[in-house]
Amino acid sequence: MRKVTLDDNVCAGFGNCALTAPEIFRFDDAELIGQVVREEIDDTDPEQLANAKLAEADCPTHAIQVN
Ligand code: SF4
Repeated sequence: MRKVTLDDNVCAGFGNCALTAPEIFRFDDAELIGQVVREEIDDTDPEQLANAKLAEADCPTHAIQVN
């Protein structure tokens, strides 16, 4: 099981994560930050894991971690 975290102190509100992986992240229009909507991803779900990793790599401020 992989854990997805997003540090909202580091997030700068670019919104990439919610576009890259909308099943894992959402963008809060009021707070102007990304949020995790799916905190755990099963290792047997390679597509979801790949999307989470892509969002992690694409986040401009490195606020996302997938461990
Ligand atoms: S991609 Fe990074 S900076 Fe942009 S909303 Fe998501 S967590 Fe925040």
